[in-house]
Amino acid sequence: MMETLNLENNIQYLKGVGPTKAALLNNLGIYTIKDLIEYYPRAYEDRTKLKKINEFIDGEYALFIADVARDAKLQRIRKNLAIINTIVTDETGNCKMTWFNQKYIKERLKEGNRYLFYGKVIFEYGRPCIESATIYDVSQIDKIQGIYPIYSLTAGITQNYLFKLMSNAYENKPLVQDIFNDEFRKVHNLCEINYAMQNVHFPKTFKAVEIARRRLIFEELFLFQLALMVIKNSGLGIEKENKYENVDITPFLELLPFSLTNAQLRVIEEIRKDLTSNKLMNRLVQGDVGCGKTMVAAVAIYMAVKNGYQAALMAPTTILANQHYEELSNYFSKLGIKTEIITSSTTKKNKERIVELLKKKEIDVIIGTHSLIEDNIEFSNLGLVITDEQHRFGVKQRMKLTNKGNQVDTLVMTATPIPRTLAIMLYGDLDLSIIDEMPPGRTPVKTYAITDNLEARLNNFLKKHIDEGRQVYVVCPLVEENEELDLKSVESLYEKYKNEFFKSYKVEFLHGKMKNKEKDEIMQRFKNNETNILISTTVIEVGISVSNATVMVIENADRFGLAALHQLRGRVGRGAYESFCILKSNNKSLKARERLKIMEKSNNGFDIAEKDLELRGPGDFFGIRQSGLPEFKLANLLKDINVLKDAQSVAKEIINTDPNLTTKENSVLKRTLIEKFGEQINNITT
Ligand code: ADP
Ligand code: MG
Repeated sequence: MMETLNLENNIQYLKGVGPTKAALLNNLGIYTIKDLIEYYPRAYEDRTKLKKINEFIDGEYALFIADVARDAKLQRIRKNLAIINTIVTDETGNCKMTWFNQKYIKERLKEGNRYLFYGKVIFEYGRPCIESATIYDVSQIDKIQGIYPIYSLTAGITQNYLFKLMSNAYENKPLVQDIFNDEFRKVHNLCEINYAMQNVHFPKTFKAVEIARRRLIFEELFLFQLALMVIKNSGLGIEKENKYENVDITPFLELLPFSLTNAQLRVIEEIRKDLTSNKLMNRLVQGDVGCGKTMVAAVAIYMAVKNGYQAALMAPTTILANQHYEELSNYFSKLGIKTEIITSSTTKKNKERIVELLKKKEIDVIIGTHSLIEDNIEFSNLGLVITDEQHRFGVKQRMKLTNKGNQVDTLVMTATPIPRTLAIMLYGDLDLSIIDEMPPGRTPVKTYAITDNLEARLNNFLKKHIDEGRQVYVVCPLVEENEELDLKSVESLYEKYKNEFFKSYKVEFLHGKMKNKEKDEIMQRFKNNETNILISTTVIEVGISVSNATVMVIENADRFGLAALHQLRGRVGRGAYESFCILKSNNKSLKARERLKIMEKSNNGFDIAEKDLELRGPGDFFGIRQSGLPEFKLANLLKDINVLKDAQSVAKEIINTDPNLTTKENSVLKRTLIEKFGEQINNITT
């Protein structure tokens, strides 16, 4: 009997890999055999039909057998460009074939040789042509004809190579343990896991693809829902040992230079109710940029501290953590509440001091970044955890902080406008509060979409505002996933602004690759109005508050999602001055103009998110990183909403009968959750 492949084996030892390729595969998140076979195709090519040349359709791919009609010719066009040309023929017609720089191909393309070809047909002057077709020996037809999976790639890894690796892995029959038993699968109409895995990579029919995908998507969404419910459950039904005394918040409110909005007060009451009840709080506060979520957090912290607890506020960036620290410690210090901050730029010595003080409960409130979840940070009695801009953190990170206390109330805050139905589905573990009102005196940001031919006028407009004492942000788009290029585009934009348009002004730039300390200094200078124009990537996207900045210019605005544009726009209009957002874009397509028009017309993040969804479709909308939704391997939260609903109701059933997954029947599920979401699930369920 052949031994089955150990799924945990390093990918390096699979036939056809080795150290060099392994490093490249790592870039795709593939480290083990299991990672490989769980690397699912993003699409499929239909190569089921073998075509004749006279059946070719312009723009479509074709798989066909043909003879080389004459020896291929090699032409050297430039130093780096060689073209190989030939004609191939079958009994129905001829097709022109071209390849670039693949000189070795020439030897194979001798008159009379017969091959199996696959490529995209383009008609030129009514005649079919194919560039860079793949060439196979005719004998390979059984392997090639069929449905062909398409994988997402990285440099140095081709489709054919990945396909080959999958085949190599499957030669050894990798066996995955099914987390669902026969009966469960039958009831919920799911195929067996190994059938699903095999057919997602090597399907014989599109029906098989559908069956396989449904099973895998169901599993992903089901486990996700189950994890959320277990987490939520952990706070349910458990009597809090010490519920909160009611706290009079007037001493805090009296320090503020403004009164809170009705929406803020309403949400504070919802929080008060949670805290004084005998169950743990698990609440999401959703509210558009600038609605004043920080003050709501501050009041919650005040209530916790007055009840003798320590509180932690976690923000996604150092800049934001600093900003919270400055604002809150200012108020808290006047009330005898001790506040400190820990970020990656905190010195080692300072950190050691804070760690000691936290343990001794000589600090009441700690504000910080991810640094707060490090293992050496311990509390004396942590009672409240708040995560700001929740969408930047995963469930795991939030739980890690929560687990530093015994019974911790949690509040999470976000400005991401996720349509409500979806929010409830996704944050199923949370109660929802919405701040749907802006502080008074805010004039909506006036938004204009313009093209580059108005650049000179725009620059005069900016100068006018700066001369009146105001400040300007210029944001340039993130070049996808490529920090090197990001940097370049910020720097070249900076050069343009600094050396061409605004010679006598103070211009600075900021990007994600800078050291935190440098970023903070640049931000600080901008806050102090020592800089007139700040050019930046979207690192300024979240939360920064400089009320003297009144104009936001967004370059290549069409490259952003509307939700992101709205977030960015929220950086201005934060003070008494009239504010402007200028969307620059030379994209003349109707769709692009239409999207930017939405920004001109609406100032409501939720409306904008929904319209964007309509225009772009769910793929793009949820494709953006800013959406902060969990990354699924196959599931698409909007397209697969029906599977999501199924998965949710099945998860609910299980949790209702076995809330902590303690029965033998559910032990596999529990183990899987722990593997996927970490030890915290274990802590909760035992
Ligand atoms: P976000 O909800 O986007 O996090 P912030 O909490 O940063 O918004 O608040 C934005 C600005 O509005 C801050 O400068 C804050 O001090 C101010 N602010 C908050 N609440 C009020 C209010 N009720 N009236 C006036 N200004 C307020
Ligand atoms: Mg905020």
